[in-house]
Amino acid sequence: MSRVLVIGCGGVANVAIRKCCMLPEVFTELCIASRTKSKCDALAAELKGKTTTKITTAQVNADSVEELCALIQSYKPDLVMNIALPYQDLTIMEACLACKVNYMDTANYEPEDTDDPEWRKVYEKRCKEQGFSAYFDYSWQWAYRKRFEKAGLTALLGCGFDPGVTQAYCAYAKKHEFDEIDTIDILDCNGGDHGYAFATNFNPEVNLREVSAPGSYWEDGHWVEIPAMSIKREYNFDQVGDKDMYLLHHEEIESLAQNIPEVKRIRFFMTFGQSYLTHMKCLENVGMLSTTPIKFEGKEIVPIKFLKALLPDPASLGPRTHGKTNIGCIFTGSKDGKEKTYYIYNVCDHQECYKEVGSQAISYTTGVPAMCGAMMMLTGKWTTPGVHTVEEFDPDPFLAALDQYGLPKSESHDPALVP
Ligand code: NDP
Repeated sequence: MSRVLVIGCGGVANVAIRKCCMLPEVFTELCIASRTKSKCDALAAELKGKTTTKITTAQVNADSVEELCALIQSYKPDLVMNIALPYQDLTIMEACLACKVNYMDTANYEPEDTDDPEWRKVYEKRCKEQGFSAYFDYSWQWAYRKRFEKAGLTALLGCGFDPGVTQAYCAYAKKHEFDEIDTIDILDCNGGDHGYAFATNFNPEVNLREVSAPGSYWEDGHWVEIPAMSIKREYNFDQVGDKDMYLLHHEEIESLAQNIPEVKRIRFFMTFGQSYLTHMKCLENVGMLSTTPIKFEGKEIVPIKFLKALLPDPASLGPRTHGKTNIGCIFTGSKDGKEKTYYIYNVCDHQECYKEVGSQAISYTTGVPAMCGAMMMLTGKWTTPGVHTVEEFDPDPFLAALDQYGLPKSESHDPALVP
């Protein structure tokens, strides 16, 4: 028996909600709330008669703590699943604390307005002290640790695939495969083709910000930052084949460096095709990725928001995307005094996802872990009060749920390593 409030009704939320409704014994009642209520109503109408989960819908502006509190107080959920945008993380956490309810999300906080002087002051200090310049980092949400702990509430951060499952893979490797982990390489390969010259697989604004930023990795206790896309490697991915991949900054490196302190190096690579990179570079060069508003014909517009309006909606890519994703982690380290290597990953087929839930694999590989993470919290498996990332919890029941609900793991004890 549970009541869950889902905030957001985009590509990822659509998958998570459909998967929750396949498990009505865990997700007894769901309220789908978002900025555009018609999207919530359309999904609720589609699910009517196909699930015994009792679904209601609501309109909410998740930038307003007041509106969120009013909704939470009237619905009284056991858990709030934040599947809106990273911009809303802090307001939703505030509202959860005020209303004494557990919280989870799929991406760490970043501000919508990166020109905000108050935020910029903190950001510039962090860049100097920490040595990486991505707009997102965990410090804003980790600042809530004591308040959640004191309230006896749990906040689970970043429970998608990466971040999310990749950290569960690290916890699993640490628990079952290694006494000491020396290096972690997280490899995110999308071998799918949607037939467009340029489109992003999830929210274009968040995606393009992430990819156009400088890359960075963790080595010997500190960050090493590099120009965007300046470290390239080739890798032969199981069931996908040879792909070019590039080193990016990624949020889970930050928490893994704290939670597995013996690790000497953590890197994150993502595959990109040449067409994507050429388009992105061109758009960046002409200023279309900028988040700073400009005046155009008397109106103020934000270039990246305008670009988002022109690009295909990620939710529309499902029917046209063919191929597979392969996401996982390669480890080196030692067990019982012997050096060893280990690779754990998932392969997911875009068309299979589309057949099951009407979406492509990127939303699927994020929405299914969000549902499984919520299930861990609702069934009493992940309940430590405080603000936690996925690797802090027991990976076994979570990976068992992923095996069962659509994202089974594959393993290799003799993987090719990334130079
Ligand atoms: P979408 O843009 O498709 O959906 C976002 C949803 O949030 C929309 O329904 C939108 O409403 C709603 N929303 C936005 N602002 C507000 C607001 N102020 N109040 C209420 N609702 C709001 O994004 P995705 O589904 O692609 O991504 C969802 C999240 O998942 C993001 O945080 C993203 O970073 C994360 N993600 C995580 C991954 C992982 O592996 N961990 C991978 C991919 C994504 P409206 O319809 O009105 O626009």
